[in-house]
Amino acid sequence: MKRVRAVAEPKGTGKEPFDIDEVFRRLRRELADRPKAAMFDLRDRGYGSPFEQLVGSLISARTRDETTIAVCLRLFAEARTPEAILALGEGELAHLLSGATFAEVKARDIRAIARRIVEEWGGEVPKDAESLMSLRGVGPKIAALTLAVGFGQPAIAVDIHVHRIVNRWGYVETTTPEKTMAALAEILPERYWIEINERLVPFGRFVCTGTRPRCSSCPLLSMCRQVGVVAPR
Ligand code: SF4
Repeated sequence: MKRVRAVAEPKGTGKEPFDIDEVFRRLRRELADRPKAAMFDLRDRGYGSPFEQLVGSLISARTRDETTIAVCLRLFAEARTPEAILALGEGELAHLLSGATFAEVKARDIRAIARRIVEEWGGEVPKDAESLMSLRGVGPKIAALTLAVGFGQPAIAVDIHVHRIVNRWGYVETTTPEKTMAALAEILPERYWIEINERLVPFGRFVCTGTRPRCSSCPLLSMCRQVGVVAPR
């Protein structure tokens, strides 16, 4: 059985016990009218195949969500499979990616990935993290997003928002996204593995922001330990 870590009870702070089920209930309510995280938005628009999620995650690196979505919609209107990507010239692919950061580098990576998928896996995206991370430009977060959103497999995609927020909650105490992923795999109930990225990316953009988080109007304030928060709004 999964060991669920109880966040240390703060004495005399008036904080409620940290209840992860209640946290997710409040997050869903808070975010109902906010823009979705890019990969989940694309999935809900019908671009949820493993290859589309893999390519979309690569495009999203260091690129704003609104731009990622627009670039992916433009690309997927032309090519949605490894074979179709390879049929595009590299220049044409880079042109379709324009607006994303490092468009030319990403075009090279995406073509290299498409070629390996065709040549080594018969055109099917491999369904394990190790094979995914052997692809050019693919690290733990992109592999996890592909597995989670593309394949619907329980995988925890930790980006900078997820890493920052779960540490502020006091739910984990880690120094890097990779360590956060490992810590969450120990303590987060599996039913939230896919959803945590879906919720915390927009929550990190609009509420628990990198600097000056909006604690005074945050629905989690009564439970959050606010670890390391120095100048909340
Ligand atoms: S109370 Fe503040 S630090 Fe905690 S989750 Fe909300 S915004 Fe983030």
